Amino acid sequence: IDSNNIRNFSIIAHIDHGKSTLADRIMEFTNTVDDRTAKPQLLDNMTVEKEHGVTVKAQTVTNYYLAKDNQQYVLNLIDTPGHVDFSYEVSKSLSATEGVILLVDATQGVQAQTIANYNLAKAQHIKIMPVINKIDSPNAEVATVKQQILDLDSEFKSADILETSAKNGTGVPELLEAIVANIPAPQVADQAPELKALVFDMTYDSYQGVIVHIRLVAGEIKANQKLVLMNAGKTFDAKAIGIFNPNMVEQDTLYAGEVGYVVTGIKEVNQIRVGDTITTAVAGTAEPVPGYEEATPVVYAGIFPKDDFLAMKSALFKIALNDSSLKIEDDYSDALGQGFRVGFLGNFHLQIIKERLLVEYGVEVITTSPNVTYKVHLKNDKVVSVNNPVNFPNYSDIDYVEEPIVMVTITTLPESVNQVINLSEKYRGVLIDLNNLSNLSNLVQLTYNMPLSEIAYHFFNALKSETHGYATLSMGEITYQPADVVKMTFDINYSNVPQLTFITNRVNAADQSQELVHKLKYAVPRQLYPMPAQAIVEGKVIARVDIPPIRKNAAVSGEKKSISKQQALLRRQSLNKRKAKQLEFELPQSVFDIFLDI
Ligand code: GDP
Ligand code: MG
Repeated sequence: IDSNNIRNFSIIAHIDHGKSTLADRIMEFTNTVDDRTAKPQLLDNMTVEKEHGVTVKAQTVTNYYLAKDNQQYVLNLIDTPGHVDFSYEVSKSLSATEGVILLVDATQGVQAQTIANYNLAKAQHIKIMPVINKIDSPNAEVATVKQQILDLDSEFKSADILETSAKNGTGVPELLEAIVANIPAPQVADQAPELKALVFDMTYDSYQGVIVHIRLVAGEIKANQKLVLMNAGKTFDAKAIGIFNPNMVEQDTLYAGEVGYVVTGIKEVNQIRVGDTITTAVAGTAEPVPGYEEATPVVYAGIFPKDDFLAMKSALFKIALNDSSLKIEDDYSDALGQGFRVGFLGNFHLQIIKERLLVEYGVEVITTSPNVTYKVHLKNDKVVSVNNPVNFPNYSDIDYVEEPIVMVTITTLPESVNQVINLSEKYRGVLIDLNNLSNLSNLVQLTYNMPLSEIAYHFFNALKSETHGYATLSMGEITYQPADVVKMTFDINYSNVPQLTFITNRVNAADQSQELVHKLKYAVPRQLYPMPAQAIVEGKVIARVDIPPIRKNAAVSGEKKSISKQQALLRRQSLNKRKAKQLEFELPQSVFDIFLDI
């Protein structure tokens, strides 16, 4: 097909504004799926996505559309994630497109994530087509929302703003025509140039190896061609090539401007990253496509296998292939064995990865409490970045510590402003700006500097529940500021449990340590002997409880035990009172979960 008849585009929107539903309608109206195979949110095919009702990973689908001008068009739709944790994924998807549909819910209007996504698209200099969705709803306020959209960008014209119901299909035919008319065709060089294809996503298949999702920038790819991933320096044969329609459909050739996949057969996944460029192994391009900026992890947590380290490692690397924002480093713990310290884009991201490990690979993991990265200035003038509390230097060596502070913008309704202010203060936010978005009539925007640790752990959830989901939050740049923080460690039965170490504010340490040891009393599996649980800060025990033994039950249990066995147990109990050593039992995830609620 002529590249003039290709349109590569994404849909961007605030969460729940109807992106996945609109994607379904587009596939239906272009007969990509028939009514029988159509099931809601067809592109959200990860189990975790279905459970959370959000899109986590971008999906691609090629639709064939016969336009009113009687020409056949190829509409490549790249779906994008909608949660704040995943804006990195959004920009990646956008770089493979020439335009976006900016979808706004007629009952909700412009929301924080609408603005954030609009800014991402604007930064890519791609065509933005505003569309008002859910016009069928009795609560739709089309005129108000239209004005909000016009206020976003002086280049928007009232007549260009389309209105749809993704639910019943109203306006979708007009939208398809508008995509053809307004989104530019991909620009491709005229003379047959060398192949240049951007890898914007990847998946792993245990039979076919790595499958790269590509956008051809120049040249063409033929099946069985010898290709090279330029950054990884890996050559391979294109085992199969094709497009997503919406399932994989093989083709003989992919042309410049098209979006599709290449089955590489590569099974070692460690060096391959999205943002790489594919060209031909012989006489290829010398100039790769500009790659992506690396994502900056916001929180770190330890991930340890419940059973098999190698199974966990293999699963985690395969997920990382398709989620380049994960940062993975080796980690080791006496209690939990070999594992990884993993950097995530946020707490929700951590939760999604944990679920993907379980659902997609059957791997159960233990995650330690998440933490941010601290900059520790030592008395010897050295500065160390610490993303693992276990490595936090000894207090006697520390001059001062800096913690990450992030500028957050909270967009909310006037009636929720007081709640937001109270909550932000509770989580150490410093208000720097409050204004009515006079243009966007109904919304108030509050800007805070807030410690990243507060946002990473609790603030986001608290905000959502207190405002009943009506407040939204977007994060800006991270800076570092001095903070009075201390390392809290825990001894159980006089032995240190490194994975329970965490960093906290000095002012909160006393209360938190009391709360934590009392929770440990119930979460730590009881043994035949009593065990103290102690919280230690700067060499001093600041809280302590005794975890009672299960002595009665164990020694005089229903099952018959020989006298000598009972005596052995009792002897061990008294031994344990005296001797500090490594824990003799495993700590369940519930012990680590205690730290998530602090
Ligand atoms: P996404 O988070 O942007 O992908 O939003 P979804 O497509 O998952 O839609 C969120 C909710 O809005 C779902 O319950 C949809 O059924 C509903 N929805 C989507 N489009 C429309 C529409 O045009 N009209 C109405 N009334 N509901 C819609
Ligand atoms: Mg969705």
